[in-house]
Amino acid sequence: MKETPKEKKIHKNLIPGQMSIEGFLGKDKRNYSEIISTDRAELDRLDLTTKMIADRLQYFTDSAFESYDSSIIIDEKYEVNYKSFRGKLICPFGHPGVYRKGMISLMNLGNGIEINWTPLNIHMISDHCFFEGKGSIHRLEPMILKDAIF
Ligand SMILES: [Zn+2]
Repeated sequence: MKETPKEKKIHKNLIPGQMSIEGFLGKDKRNYSEIISTDRAELDRLDLTTKMIADRLQYFTDSAFESYDSSIIIDEKYEVNYKSFRGKLICPFGHPGVYRKGMISLMNLGNGIEINWTPLNIHMISDHCFFEGKGSIHRLEPMILKDAIF
């Protein structure tokens, strides 16, 4: 399938250098639309939706935002830390909005699973079903998310 100019531009934004030093694809050689459709099928198998995941990540993000770089315990089960950085990021899919730079880490105290994400990850999940490519530092594996935050 031939890429449209818009798809070409998105791809360029996702590889290292254009929008972020590391890029969003990691070692993944697949086209981003294939990464998205594979994850969409995975969500169906896991009985999850992008909205469920994004809402949950947003809840932890908002709850931890006031913690100012120290960890807090949420709902007696999740240890969450919000590190904010100066600056803003824009969506590689070409949306007009800007997203805070920051990194949220969560440890599920029940099973020890640890994940981290950025505010941009939440947007890319909710609006694009994009969890980043395999091997990308902010790749969020749906199966791991299920065990970590639900
Ligand atoms: Zn977007």
